[in-house]
Amino acid sequence: DIVYLNGVYVKKDEACLSPFDRGFLFAHAAYEVTAVFGGELIDFDAHMARLVRTLEGIDIPRDDLTVCLQDLHEELISRNGVIEGFVYLQVTAGAYGRRDFGGPETLMPGLFMFCETRNLIGEKAQYGVSAITVEDQRWKRRDYKTTQLLSQALAYRESERGGAFGAILHEDGMVTEAASANLWVVLDAETLVTRNLGRQILPGITRQSVLDHMGRIGMTVEERVIALDELKTAREVFTTSATGLVLPVVELDGKPVGTGKPGPVTRRVQGQYYRGIGADVDA
Ligand code: PLP
Repeated sequence: DIVYLNGVYVKKDEACLSPFDRGFLFAHAAYEVTAVFGGELIDFDAHMARLVRTLEGIDIPRDDLTVCLQDLHEELISRNGVIEGFVYLQVTAGAYGRRDFGGPETLMPGLFMFCETRNLIGEKAQYGVSAITVEDQRWKRRDYKTTQLLSQALAYRESERGGAFGAILHEDGMVTEAASANLWVVLDAETLVTRNLGRQILPGITRQSVLDHMGRIGMTVEERVIALDELKTAREVFTTSATGLVLPVVELDGKPVGTGKPGPVTRRVQGQYYRGIGADVDA
């Protein structure tokens, strides 16, 4: 496995970063995860546009960084022979030899990338997954994709300890999103709802892509806040993300969602999305 770190390609086990890195000390870092399907990057430009927005939001200068990212992605995919999987990219604010909250006026960001081969359309997509509901304890700028992921990591650990696959986050009786995906609920035959964008959730690239496909599915989507009670009585629930694509949630807090099987709307959304990326799968 070959990774990219600050200008060089090295073997995974040989990649080293200073413990004084601001990403390590303060989670002062942005990241992106872009799916690879059939050897091609999915929605690459949209991922990079979101990266630029995050970097601006967290005060990391970017001009020299983002110009060659497509080449770096493609080189890494080719060196590792990835046909299906993802590329992870992280821009950290860099290391300055001491722990200083403010840091120097001029930051020298670092860049780390790796990729992984993984089935994006597998059993989870076919049979669905289980999830638990967990209070959302994240900071207030969830629209930036930063490595400040402790509350999501803890939510995952809690769900795995209970035998579930993931977590759905809520605050003040309202659902925000899943721990690493956006959330969608089908309330009745006509109503598909996903949370409106704002500082409370990540503007998912897969979410946007699904919204763009909606015309062809013949359903309208309400983008609004979803009450926890609506989630718990939903007919169908699914999530969207770069690595899960469209994943049915068939069990919530130990109870079946709807019939306990992926529902017809979820199947239609999956089918449309898979066709969009050129996947030859009967969803
Ligand atoms: N929401 C959160 C909190 C995430 O961490 C992610 C992806 O990691 C998403 C939503 C989905 O975003 P995308 O579709 O761009 O992968």
